[in-house]
Amino acid sequence: MLHNNVEIFMNLKKISRRELLKKSISSLPFLALPNFSFSQSSFDVVVIGAGASGLSATAELLSKGKSVLCVEAMNRIGGRCHTDNSIFGVPYDMGAHWLHNYSGNQIAKYGKKHKDEFNIYRDPDNALVFDGQKKVTGFKLYNLYKKLEEYKYNGVKDVPFMSLIPQRIKKNEWFDTAHQLLGACNPGVDFNEYTLADDHLNYKNIGAGDGFVKEGYGTLLAHYRKGVPVKLNTLVKEIQWDGKGVKVETNQGTISAKVCVVTVSTGVLSSDKIKFKPALPLEKYEAFDGISLCTYNHITLKLREEFYKTFKIKPDVYFSPRIITKTPSPKGYCGTLRLHKSNLSYFDVGGQFAKDLEAEGTKASIDFVINSLRSTFGSEFDNYLIKAHATRWGQNQYTTGSYSSAKPGKAHLRKVLKSPVGDRIFFAGEATSINFATVHGADLSGKRVVKDVIKIARI
Ligand SMILES: Cc1cc2nc3c(=O)[nH]c(=O)nc-3n(C[C@H](O)[C@H](O)[C@H](O)COP(=O)(O)OP(=O)(O)OC[C@H]3O[C@@H](n4cnc5c(N)ncnc54)[C@H](O)[C@@H]3O)c2cc1C
Repeated sequence: MLHNNVEIFMNLKKISRRELLKKSISSLPFLALPNFSFSQSSFDVVVIGAGASGLSATAELLSKGKSVLCVEAMNRIGGRCHTDNSIFGVPYDMGAHWLHNYSGNQIAKYGKKHKDEFNIYRDPDNALVFDGQKKVTGFKLYNLYKKLEEYKYNGVKDVPFMSLIPQRIKKNEWFDTAHQLLGACNPGVDFNEYTLADDHLNYKNIGAGDGFVKEGYGTLLAHYRKGVPVKLNTLVKEIQWDGKGVKVETNQGTISAKVCVVTVSTGVLSSDKIKFKPALPLEKYEAFDGISLCTYNHITLKLREEFYKTFKIKPDVYFSPRIITKTPSPKGYCGTLRLHKSNLSYFDVGGQFAKDLEAEGTKASIDFVINSLRSTFGSEFDNYLIKAHATRWGQNQYTTGSYSSAKPGKAHLRKVLKSPVGDRIFFAGEATSINFATVHGADLSGKRVVKDVIKIARI
């Protein structure tokens, strides 16, 4: 998710116009718990999910001397923050890779303290803008950005953002590109599905800028939470809360506890993959649906060194070719080239277009990017291609999408989402955070939920 597009362009302007013209081991030792009989055990808390929020809640509960069992459906920890090292032979973040709110991001601070193991640095904020095959300054795009950003400060209307934008702006030749960068590749939804009220009501900025970690965000998260015990391959199917405490039904048996902390995505919750018995109050289901999960995917190419040399591409540079699609969901990507000086480049897609592309399959996703790159760099572009990969977060049954975004008219439901039920079912996860849609936000939500558990359930 590219949060700070505007900042990038603003920084470029601040730095110098001439510059702009020129520029135009996830296998760390967390504790996988061995098999044991759940029926013989009762816990203070069961934490469901071992993504950033579940790991954080578990660590916090353990530090307070509580007995806790964290269960995870997948055969790995990290959830939507996962680094793969095998596909390209270098760290490849399949989910999160920007350290958002960099100056205040607690996980970035942890990484900086471990500088022998992690190379953490601020996003250099370079941008490369193309109009057809021509490199351009990016000022037209930047100016349009500024206009669109001004709406953010014009009051809180919980309506589709698209309905607030006048026709003259929609006719701007850079509109589809700005829409793609500020909508599909930011909150992960198109302007028709995006409401400014979500930011106004629910979001607090805790730091400036973005950062990167060369070893991968998933690897950093696993290190940050090393030693946190997790029971993997344990799929929660049902949570019973009609008697005392909770009984959590899993594919490995039933777990009894005084309370449970649910950290799965709103997509998993709204698809009813986890049943609650008795059913939760109706407003909770409205919240699961209203704080919906967007689709945002990386389509990643490994390119020959000559490509970067030939086109003089600096590391970590943002790449925006002008797109003209005139469709409700812009058909384009937000590119980040030569990540961490490697020969990987990410081309990220979001919104309805990303959903459609994902449904068409991996080949269609990769072909889309390659075709687009041919139109910028010429048909010889194919000679630079070594390997390609596309993520499909919508197809992952344990996430069913990428990160949360309130539907227009539903921004108030984030509060409902995070409120506990019956003093024993608590909710955490990125969607409940003041820095929603982020890893560090999910991490903070784990800490927040433990405070709630102790205060409300008095365990
Ligand atoms: C492509 C992509 C790019 C992103 N980019 C960024 C970025 O650059 N920066 C950033 O900060 N954030 C980014 N995000 C968002 C970030 O990854 C998430 O906000 C964050 O990782 C969510 O953590 P979480 O703990 O709330 O949820 P998850 O990571 O989803 O953790 C929940 C866990 O619950 C498990 N689970 C689900 N169902 C069950 C069940 N029935 N039983 C047991 N376990 C279950 C899941 O397997 C999962 O491990 C991105 C996400 C994606 C997908």
